[in-house]
Amino acid sequence: MNQDFDVNSAARNWRVDTTPSASPLEVVNDLFASDVLTLEQLKARLSKSAYKSLQATVERGAQLDASIADTVALAMKTWAMEKGATHYTHWFQPLTGSTAEKHDSFLNPAGDGVAIMSFSGKELIQAEPDASSFPSGGLRATFEARGYTAWDPSSPAFIIRHANGATLCIPSVFASWTGEALDLKTPLLRSIEALNSAVTPALELFGASAGTRVGSSLGAEQEYFLIAEEYYYRRPDLVMTGRTLFGAKPPRGQELEDHYFGAIPDRVLSFMTDAEMQLYALGIPVKTRHNEVAPGQFEIAPIFEHSNIAADHQQLIMQVLRTTARKYGLVCLMHEKPFAGVNGSGKHCNWSMATNAGENLLEPGDTPHENMQFLFFCTAVLKAVDTHQDLLRACVASASNDHRLGANEAPPAIISIFLGSELTDIFDRIVSGQGGSGKSAGLMGLGSSVLPEIPVHAGDRNRTSPFAFTGNKFEFRAVGSSQSISFPITVLNAIVAESVSELTAELKAQLDAGQSLDEAVTALVKRTYQQYQRIVFNGDGYSDAWHQEAEQVRGLLNLRTTLDAIEHLNSPKNTALFSKLGILNERELAARQEIMYDIYFKTVNIEGETTEYMAQTQILPAALNYLADLGKVGGNRAAQAVTAEVSAAADALYDAIQALRVQNEALGGDEVHEKAHHMRDHVLPAMSEVRTAADRLEKVVSSKLWPLPTYRQMLFVK
Ligand code: ADP
Ligand code: MG
Repeated sequence: MNQDFDVNSAARNWRVDTTPSASPLEVVNDLFASDVLTLEQLKARLSKSAYKSLQATVERGAQLDASIADTVALAMKTWAMEKGATHYTHWFQPLTGSTAEKHDSFLNPAGDGVAIMSFSGKELIQAEPDASSFPSGGLRATFEARGYTAWDPSSPAFIIRHANGATLCIPSVFASWTGEALDLKTPLLRSIEALNSAVTPALELFGASAGTRVGSSLGAEQEYFLIAEEYYYRRPDLVMTGRTLFGAKPPRGQELEDHYFGAIPDRVLSFMTDAEMQLYALGIPVKTRHNEVAPGQFEIAPIFEHSNIAADHQQLIMQVLRTTARKYGLVCLMHEKPFAGVNGSGKHCNWSMATNAGENLLEPGDTPHENMQFLFFCTAVLKAVDTHQDLLRACVASASNDHRLGANEAPPAIISIFLGSELTDIFDRIVSGQGGSGKSAGLMGLGSSVLPEIPVHAGDRNRTSPFAFTGNKFEFRAVGSSQSISFPITVLNAIVAESVSELTAELKAQLDAGQSLDEAVTALVKRTYQQYQRIVFNGDGYSDAWHQEAEQVRGLLNLRTTLDAIEHLNSPKNTALFSKLGILNERELAARQEIMYDIYFKTVNIEGETTEYMAQTQILPAALNYLADLGKVGGNRAAQAVTAEVSAAADALYDAIQALRVQNEALGGDEVHEKAHHMRDHVLPAMSEVRTAADRLEKVVSSKLWPLPTYRQMLFVK
């Protein structure tokens, strides 16, 4: 196999004709949300009263009135068929973190060899997928093995197209017949409701008008790698596990920072444009695209949306990127760490709270009153993050994300908040009672002039922080590139809901005791900030000094691995949080923990077996073949030296494979957490030994004999 064959040049024939005939802007205008069944679309297709009823359902999250279900279903079917759909599916997010679909045709036999296209209200509202094929973490004993999906009218239906047709997708939740959530969406919807219930009373104290509703906004920046398809299929590790289990570091890595913001290669740009067109049709407002830090790494980011919609759209973004890449002879890798020693991929979740009138509650304002409100909510976030560091760490925990968090890379496994020097300074001045000076004190005009002026956008950025204030929102950077954002958002909504409720109660007590709003808020912010100040860290999160300070001086948690983190998931504190807010009951939460253990175990188990297989059947034979070749050279000095080197490395690899085989066969126990711990404590270290030996061989064995595409080849996509 000739390793110097350039697959990138072979792939120059990829071109797919996507040339639009009209101007690009016209195309986008016509295209945007053209495959989404918006409320406007439905309005045109429903009677006034049916539409009103549906609108109320969507806005208040109420149950769909059964009497209009058939009418809505008919309108949906007609629309979908006009768009070319032949099938429909309830589209939902099981606990695997991916999305699930079971397609049914609109076709119904009507006797006499005739078929009619039908879709009833019953089929719209509810479906019963084979629940036994999705993880339930013990929530579904066999006697109650059934689960059902139910339409979530707050997220619009849409069309997914493929080369030979189209399918109507109906966003749905997935629950057991006992009413327990079996998916990621149900708790997310419940958490949005909890946030609304917690924040509106606070806003009332600040004088918000009646009828104000609050939700969370979310913008997720997706990082990913692209590699040529030909290489992908020659790497069993990528195919089986999504990451390379072998591979020496490339000679030219990200040291050369020309990649970031450099020109995007033509093939990649064509792929991006194609994906964006499809995303526009799905009503997903993608905005930003660029190269990322590592070679072969890219990013796509939409404009933020209501977090429920953003969570659905995020799943669709991943799906569209994956399928579109194939049209261009590329494979899109979503794994958090596909290449060791090369920057990994995350999914920064930009989160804020906003009212139905569009007011961003984490945006500093122009008036003292607005800023008081801003500081109140900002303080609530500090309190929430400090109190629930464990939960924030746990909701991003996975075997794959462990290679980012806590490794030598952003962000660390220690949860802290970057506030930026300006905002930190403001809190410091509130604590010291200094207030603002000159103009700012006047602007705040709070009598006591304790609240300084707040800059609208914090200028400084800190990429090493897992949780950063970025001017008018918080950016949760620890989220993994391949994971669903639903659970992280659920956690953010939940912890802030709790914190806002508690602070609101305190504030209300002070107001009832006769304090003015200014005094009460200032005192509350001061007290709370002092109490939770340890969570604020503006320095370098990668440094050893920070790890020491965080743990030893500040007493912050450093939950290095997934198993350390998920142990905390259903602690009494967290169980109380979720059940009090009606987001997850004790059983539902325990089920989630069980599934996380199981997924961790299975992930590492597959990696361990793939490592053993590749080392034994591909890498060791390459080394032995090379030794055989060298043996033919005879008394040459170089040949003898190389033989000694390869021979020693091959022996080391052989020994490491034997040790790994023992661990792969052991499993460590019957319980899923025993197996998971065995994977972490014995299989991963044994894999690492195999890799070290194999990577050493890669550097000494003839490249002609090397069986795997190298990092150098894979990473520089053209
Ligand atoms: P970065 O510098 O972190 O790469 P980007 O501009 O690429 O920043 O991404 C910022 C993301 O934050 C975008 O998805 C944007 O829509 C989102 N965002 C902006 N304002 C808000 C907000 N109020 N709530 C949630 N997300 C927001
Ligand atoms: Mg970012």
